[in-house]
Amino acid sequence: MRIVVNWSLCEGNGNCEAAAPELFQLDDDDQLTVLNENPPEELREKAEAAVRSCPKSALSIEE
Ligand code: SF4
Repeated sequence: MRIVVNWSLCEGNGNCEAAAPELFQLDDDDQLTVLNENPPEELREKAEAAVRSCPKSALSIEE
């Protein structure tokens, strides 16, 4: 799976980091970094939770 961020939608509020800190990290300027764009299957539930948590619908998962 691959995590895709629509950077034009992301507003850096960090819901995704709260849902999946293994995958997302916000810096002090609210700039998002995807820590692992190709997470292992074990993290699928967390990745999906992060996608659902994003208020801007900026995240998606491609297979
Ligand atoms: S939850 Fe969505 S809008 Fe917020 S930082 Fe994550 S990707 Fe960006």
